[in-house]
Amino acid sequence: MRLHYCSLTVVLLPFLLASATDFDFFYHVQKWPGSFCDTTGGCCFPGNVKPAADFGIHGLWPNYAACRPAGETNRTRCWPDFCNATNTFAPSLISDLKSDMDRNWGTLSCRSNDSTAFWSHEWSRHGTCSNMDQHAYFLAALRYKARFNLTRILLDSGIVPSEERTYCVGSIRDAIGEATGSAPGIECNRNARNETQLYQVYQCVDLAGTGPIPCPAVPMQGRCTDQVKFPAF
Ligand code: AMP
Repeated sequence: MRLHYCSLTVVLLPFLLASATDFDFFYHVQKWPGSFCDTTGGCCFPGNVKPAADFGIHGLWPNYAACRPAGETNRTRCWPDFCNATNTFAPSLISDLKSDMDRNWGTLSCRSNDSTAFWSHEWSRHGTCSNMDQHAYFLAALRYKARFNLTRILLDSGIVPSEERTYCVGSIRDAIGEATGSAPGIECNRNARNETQLYQVYQCVDLAGTGPIPCPAVPMQGRCTDQVKFPAF
């Protein structure tokens, strides 16, 4: 029996649709390497080569606008994760992106000497929920970073890495919000001297992973104080 292409579509469509993950927006998350490295945990560089003094991608994370009760367990969930255990990271699918990934999405963890484990984790936890294939997912995150250069945006507002200065966290958020059209979430951490510093920037992005959108939830200000450091790297 020959199955016509249209009948195949009719048969497969419900399964294809059923596998789409329902979420509201992405967080495009970037971290400042100076603030990762100056903590008590320290950091390591892939191949022992120090990366440029630039924000690095942490991930592109599907998110819910409001936390939801989660199925059988009745636990509240604020984002979907680990959506497909069989769809594992395959470096060969993104080999054309490797040098861009190395420059913009490198690990700083001392647990491994290359970034593959980091990329594999981000794909398994977040990418499998993105409704994109691996190549489209990593490319979207890279393109978004290139579209809005956070290091340059802050520099243009006089916010430069410094060992001495502190900055108002509101002026960091305003500088990025004015340049992108969407006020980001800001997360801080503490250096080894227990000083609060700018750590990660959370930008709210549409479901295609291409454009900024107003953050559906109140932008977070995780662990920040009014004045924060932006340490040199
Ligand atoms: P990851 O390295 O991607 O596993 O994420 C690091 C941390 O970020 C997690 O331990 C969570 O606290 C937080 N996180 C992960 N996914 C999300 C998300 N979609 N929205 C907000 N926070 C998240």
